[in-house]
Amino acid sequence: MFATSAFTRLIEKSTSHLNLEPDWDSTLQICDSIRQRDIQAKFAIQSLKKKISQDNPHVSVFALGVLESCVKNCGSVIHEEIATKEFMEFLKDQAKIRPDPVRAKILELVQVWSHAFRNEPNYKVVQDTFHLMKMEGYTFPTLKEADAMFKAESAPDWADGECCHRCRVTFSTFLRKHHCRHCGNVFCNKCSSKTSIIPKFGIEKEVRVCESCYEDINGPSNSKKEDDGLPSEYLNSPLSKQPQNPPAKTEQEIKEEEDLQLAIALSKNHVKSKHTNKTNTSNSTVYSQPTVSNS
Ligand SMILES: [Zn+2]
Ligand SMILES: [Zn+2]
Repeated sequence: MFATSAFTRLIEKSTSHLNLEPDWDSTLQICDSIRQRDIQAKFAIQSLKKKISQDNPHVSVFALGVLESCVKNCGSVIHEEIATKEFMEFLKDQAKIRPDPVRAKILELVQVWSHAFRNEPNYKVVQDTFHLMKMEGYTFPTLKEADAMFKAESAPDWADGECCHRCRVTFSTFLRKHHCRHCGNVFCNKCSSKTSIIPKFGIEKEVRVCESCYEDINGPSNSKKEDDGLPSEYLNSPLSKQPQNPPAKTEQEIKEEEDLQLAIALSKNHVKSKHTNKTNTSNSTVYSQPTVSNS
């Protein structure tokens, strides 16, 4: 019974209208519960559908973002649930009655999925919906490079095993197994100590990957970020040239630092980051105005 109540809490957290930015922790946990079959994909989609159709646009957009992550990271169990006439009709209806940013997000998703599923005859309804909506006059955004990399079959199933996929050490109570979020295999901590964003799965937060996936994503390991582990977006930004504070000590400071880095990583998708320093992060109004009732 982990299942439904814990999962429902994760859905609430990931789609809260109080969130300033996508909540990656709960989003990734949602993906994990589906990948590990703790939760049925059907139930997950039903829960997200309820959130998508809420009046509050922030809730809807966050729910669509979680849905996007599930589709990119959970493989066929989720694809079978969304590539149905019923679900596509639901999205099409929502696009009809909801203003931006909800409509814009739906158009983006329909286009990305239509592209990703183009060689999957079983999921033809997605492409049909895309073409139908185009004919009805909807203007779709330009397909982003990272989205174009996503293919229907690309999310591997979560593997299981008693030993590390790389060094073959046997797992135990003291030697925990970890999944690489890119290839889905199990590794010891040492063989999966690197973190990376994964553009093709839409993961904009640095997550655990194995050595070889790290190189696949970031190029050979002599790259810039060896020792400090900062996202390249940060290192390339003017912020990294500013004098640095001494290493954060308290949990609160660490949290703020992480939030800031996450915000920077996310900001590449927005016109411009509103955060100029970490003290005003929490004052951002990006998603904070409670507009319409949340019931
Ligand atoms: Zn290992
Ligand atoms: Zn890997």
